[in-house]
Amino acid sequence: LIVPDHPVIPFIEGDGIGKDISIPCQKVIDAAVAKAYGGKRQIVWKEVLAGKKAFEQTGSYLPEETMEDFKKYLVGIKGPLETPVGGGIRSLNVALRQTLDLYVCLRPVRWFKGVPSPIRYPSMVDMHIFRENTEDIYAGIEFMTGEEKTKKFLDFLQNEMGIKTQIRFPESSSFGVKPVSKDGSERLIRAAIEYAIERKLPSVTLVHKGNIMKFTEGAFKNYGYDLAENEFADQVFTWRQYQKIEKGKGQLDAKKALEQAESGGKVIIKDVITDAFLQESLLHPFDHSVIATLNLNGDYVSDQLAAMVGGIGISPGANINYNSGYAIFEATHGTAPNIVGTGKANPSSLILSGVMMLEYMGWDEAAEHVFDAMEHAFAKRRVTSDLHAMMEGATLLSTSEFAEEVIRNIH
Ligand code: NAD
Repeated sequence: LIVPDHPVIPFIEGDGIGKDISIPCQKVIDAAVAKAYGGKRQIVWKEVLAGKKAFEQTGSYLPEETMEDFKKYLVGIKGPLETPVGGGIRSLNVALRQTLDLYVCLRPVRWFKGVPSPIRYPSMVDMHIFRENTEDIYAGIEFMTGEEKTKKFLDFLQNEMGIKTQIRFPESSSFGVKPVSKDGSERLIRAAIEYAIERKLPSVTLVHKGNIMKFTEGAFKNYGYDLAENEFADQVFTWRQYQKIEKGKGQLDAKKALEQAESGGKVIIKDVITDAFLQESLLHPFDHSVIATLNLNGDYVSDQLAAMVGGIGISPGANINYNSGYAIFEATHGTAPNIVGTGKANPSSLILSGVMMLEYMGWDEAAEHVFDAMEHAFAKRRVTSDLHAMMEGATLLSTSEFAEEVIRNIH
């Protein structure tokens, strides 16, 4: 990615608490960029419209100009958007991801010292979730039918597709389609493996429910192992290879091969069933590093892992297409209508998404300044209301006071 010294960064303010957190977030990022590069580099923020504000001003929730700006400038950032009721839009976020084909939802999960956690050793948490963002049951192909159409549909399944089912379908039934393509799975898993190699991370775990959904989730796992062994033969060692050696030569040889791979710095590619993963990640978070998974699993996994390090108020995220370079960084939480304008919103999620954005742009020095300053604020227990309630002896700060605290720490 070639980034000019004064890049235009389009931003969507967002609905609800978007108004409360967007500007404080920009002030923090500006302070870090100024500290890192003097006046040599500076972000030129450009507001683009989406959500309620867009609808009020243009009659459209997601105007064409907004999409054009994201395409033109490649990198952007957004606050949360409310899902409009009616109007034919399922979700603005899904629309954005699908239009720009942002196939990776990346969520790093890391603990800040001092932040309350429900697990025993939060300092050992260092996970990076790669959630497939465009397919799966979230593709939005679902429908309800009456008795006659249900019968037709079942006939089609049986006669055209050769699928027999014992399940009883009452008069009215609902159906959903879960598309999982080879290409869609591969590009997500490729990005996860490349990320692990680049950052020298120890493993990539493919999280799936292939034991039940063999042709979708099971295929995801198999595509992953095939891709890893074919495209990254010298850089990875897979559990499937381990099992083959174990079967052919015995457990001792398999263990030796694994040890060799680990000591040689190879990335270990493994797989875990989703329900087991949800338990394992709580009990042994240090067993997993990069996680590659399908859309619905990724949604569940992201929030559970976020809870381990302080919740959605401090968990950042990004939606990326590594081929075109398009990337939109965003807070992982929603519009929090219950706390709008009260000063209770924690801007950390959006600020840390800004840190991810700076890293993506290659402005690592600025990213480090923000990160260190946030670390300092949490260590001093100067926090917003969501964390204050769980931290003994903490000082309560409002949304803007917290941003000012971070800026002071940067200086
Ligand atoms: P939510 O994330 O808005 O709120 C859940 C709870 O977390 C609330 O108690 C809220 O006060 C709290 N919370 C959220 N962000 C916080 C922050 N930064 N600081 C402190 N507390 C915070 O989820 P919801 O209520 O289910 O959804 C509200 C709206 O947001 C819906 O319209 C939904 O579709 C939308 N939504 C948007 C996104 C997005 O834009 N990426 C994501 C999720 C939900």
